[in-house]
Amino acid sequence: MTDVRVRFAPSPTGAPHIGNIRTALFCYLWARHTGGKFILRIEDTDQAREVENGLQLILESLRILGLDWDEGPDIGGPYGPYEQSKRLPIYKEHAERLIAQGRAYYCYCTEERLERMRAEQKARGEQTRYDYHCRYLSDAERAEYERAGIPKVIRLAVPHEGKTTLHDFIHGDLSIENKNVDDQVLLKSDGFPTYHLAVVVDDHLMKISHVMRGEDWIPSFPKHVLLYQAFGWEIPPHGHLPNVLGPDRKKLSKRHGATSVMQFRDEGYLPEALLNFLARLGWAYDDHTEIFSRQQLIELFTLDKIEHSPAIFDPAKLDWLNGYYIRELTDDEFVARARPFVPQADATLLRAIAPLVKPRIKKLNEIAALIDYC
Ligand code: GLU
Ligand code: ZN
Repeated sequence: MTDVRVRFAPSPTGAPHIGNIRTALFCYLWARHTGGKFILRIEDTDQAREVENGLQLILESLRILGLDWDEGPDIGGPYGPYEQSKRLPIYKEHAERLIAQGRAYYCYCTEERLERMRAEQKARGEQTRYDYHCRYLSDAERAEYERAGIPKVIRLAVPHEGKTTLHDFIHGDLSIENKNVDDQVLLKSDGFPTYHLAVVVDDHLMKISHVMRGEDWIPSFPKHVLLYQAFGWEIPPHGHLPNVLGPDRKKLSKRHGATSVMQFRDEGYLPEALLNFLARLGWAYDDHTEIFSRQQLIELFTLDKIEHSPAIFDPAKLDWLNGYYIRELTDDEFVARARPFVPQADATLLRAIAPLVKPRIKKLNEIAALIDYC
């Protein structure tokens, strides 16, 4: 399996959420387990949602956990560029190719028309979707719109018959009747691709062998599969990784506490503890083993052990793991890791009390209180 190529494809919309980082970890582990490649691709085509230091926050999160990538925006690689905003001509060319083949069409509808259409559909109690207005324009009508210079998007012409199926290696077959699939936009009027077009084109061109993404994306599978079919490309194996839920079984969010790798680090969690903890969010080697070093994870990680029910984020378990990894540190290593949390502390004192403190704390940020006491 030397041709394994997996990608982590975050959007630079803020510090990556821990659930996303779990997805990155599974991709990384599969690449390292197989001797394949782990690719970092930045999906920055929705400029409205972007934050300025978004890329840096992604790189930093991965670096803290040691999830090193083989190809990416900072180091390049044979299939670059690895930032989608630098690949716009590629998407345009592909969308136009589908037009030439009759698999896609130009849509000239104004935002006002689309809003009216949606409002009418809602009033009738229907699901909102494009009404095919521009799909069957005559050549003369199309020429008229072109002459008037009306802005246009490109939409996929989804077949009305049949159904679309994705074989998901975690969830089994996912299937939908094509008549329930919208004629999605592929290319926006500003020349930017939608996520769906960009992700399919890039996964194909970058020779991605296994697509792993969060379960949240399951509703998008028909759009992707129909695009692969329209291009006449083979669909690589897809797996939708289980969601990460808080202890209350609601989607993990800021309400539950820290959500980024940087926040966990600043609270005194060791990267090795966090790595071990994240690996168990949706993957289990057996029914009892909890402690895994990075090396063991790389050796043992296989796709068939990814679980399909949601993973519950248990803070008590993270604390327990962190306490374990703190106790495992040598005293010197402990002093080095503790230092940022007690910059003032006397070096000799810190070294002297290390053996006493280690078994008493679960997080490095608890040291200050203990030192005060000493
Ligand atoms: N850019 C998407 C995200 O941020 C990628 C999803 C995928 O892996 O296709 O989640
Ligand atoms: Zn239209």
